Amino acid sequence: MQLMWFRKDLRLNDNPALHQCCLNGPAAAIYFVTPSQWQQHDVAPIQIDLMQRALNHLSHGLGKLGIVLHVIEVETFADIPQQLSKFCKQHNITNIYANSEVEVDEINRDIAVQQLFNQNGQQSLQLYQADCLINPGEVLTQQGEMYKVFTPFKNCCLKLLRDRVNLQPYPAPTAQGKAIENPSITIALDKKESSAWPASESDTYQLLQKFIDFQVEDYHQNRDFPALSATSQLGPCLALGIISAKQCVYYLLQAFPTLLDGNATGPVIWLNEILWREFYRHIMVLNPRIGKGENYNTKAKNIIWLNSKQDFKAWCAGETGYPLVDAAMQQLNQTGWMHNRLRMVCASFLTKHLLIDWRWGEKYFKQHLVDGDFASNNGGWQWAASTGCDAQPYFRIFNPTLQSQRFDPNGKFIRIYLNNRLQQRQALNDKQIHQPFEAIVEHKFARQRALLSFSVLKATGQQEG
Ligand SMILES: Cc1cc2nc3c(=O)[nH]c(=O)nc-3n(C[C@H](O)[C@H](O)[C@H](O)COP(=O)(O)OP(=O)(O)OC[C@H]3O[C@@H](n4cnc5c(N)ncnc54)[C@H](O)[C@@H]3O)c2cc1C
Repeated sequence: MQLMWFRKDLRLNDNPALHQCCLNGPAAAIYFVTPSQWQQHDVAPIQIDLMQRALNHLSHGLGKLGIVLHVIEVETFADIPQQLSKFCKQHNITNIYANSEVEVDEINRDIAVQQLFNQNGQQSLQLYQADCLINPGEVLTQQGEMYKVFTPFKNCCLKLLRDRVNLQPYPAPTAQGKAIENPSITIALDKKESSAWPASESDTYQLLQKFIDFQVEDYHQNRDFPALSATSQLGPCLALGIISAKQCVYYLLQAFPTLLDGNATGPVIWLNEILWREFYRHIMVLNPRIGKGENYNTKAKNIIWLNSKQDFKAWCAGETGYPLVDAAMQQLNQTGWMHNRLRMVCASFLTKHLLIDWRWGEKYFKQHLVDGDFASNNGGWQWAASTGCDAQPYFRIFNPTLQSQRFDPNGKFIRIYLNNRLQQRQALNDKQIHQPFEAIVEHKFARQRALLSFSVLKATGQQEG
């Protein structure tokens, strides 16, 4: 018996570890529920709900292939090596297959498992790469270093994708025995309704196809306008591995075969976004200190944050007085998702206008996002706070009113999320709607204050220390 260990790769298709496990089958599968670990990682209740739904679809699909899915609850990753070893002994299993993950706790968990297996000399854990398009550590400068700037990283990825990366997804495995019914799975933790997002592989694939067929060609024009539903909304499924980045690019290429040569503007810009995801993952693997809460740019430790608890509370509740920021925070609090342009605006506002440490915002986002993903969230926050790798220059400070006029010109998005509040005030026209009302801080003052605080990044430029 071979054992497939599922983590954030809740899919049958394009799953190299599952594929290999079943080739050597017959196979069983295991999944660890780790409540305290997830709490430490600030996993949002809405993501737990999506995870539960995705696990049930996976378990059903595995059952049809005759594969039993064992779900075991332990508190933290630290409990896994012993539990896994015990399970393997009970079931007479020697080979365990899994797909590697990029986060530092996850990497350390796998090292601990491998160390125990080495000591026992009875089992082995084989790791595959299924999360990135290209293995972290393989996109390097001519000097053999990780790129510090996105554009050359992206160009190198495109070359590798053109020349040697096989994007063909692995097929779902063949049946391992007679079909069985795996019991339904309940994760006994706080959950928040996630039904707006697909949880099965087939529904996720349909969402991708719909986006490719009808929206991706206009992506470059529409993606920055939060009132339009113009982005793929695949983030939550990518975060849990219900679909892989490889599958996204493979099917995009089927529709736009000259994509990698830079033809087709919308699809090229969408591919760029997938490559930002890739960039942050590669940075994380090659700089594990980032996974422990450190600034990428070591000079950023000299920024003096004000960290006002009162201001933070107002930001979380969407009560800063800046309509676009407040509507965006309402979107996050109500739906568990926030448009990318607004993530940048809100993160800039928290770190620059309020001078609150980006880690506070990173945590709050993770606690509420259905697509919460450590590498992309950390990358996005450090970009906005100018502390990251190829980040926004420190002197660039979004003006939330101008952002509002530019990206929500008729106030349509603001009206959706601030409707109740606006009803209590006199009617506002499309110009007035963007203006701050009883604002927490005045823009020009905040801008000057931020420039002063962030000038510690100035001396020798934006390089990492
Ligand atoms: C402060 C901040 C926090 C963020 N937190 C997260 C997070 O926790 N999880 C997350 O997946 N993304 C995060 N992002 C990136 C981005 O905002 C979301 O991926 C995007 O809004 C998701 O919407 P979509 O699925 O419709 O994306 P699309 O626009 O359709 O893009 C397709 C996919 O590409 C990836 N992607 C797109 N933009 C980025 C980006 N800037 N960085 C990294 N990957 C990207 C995502 O996987 C996304 O699903 C964050 C960005 C910022 C500025």
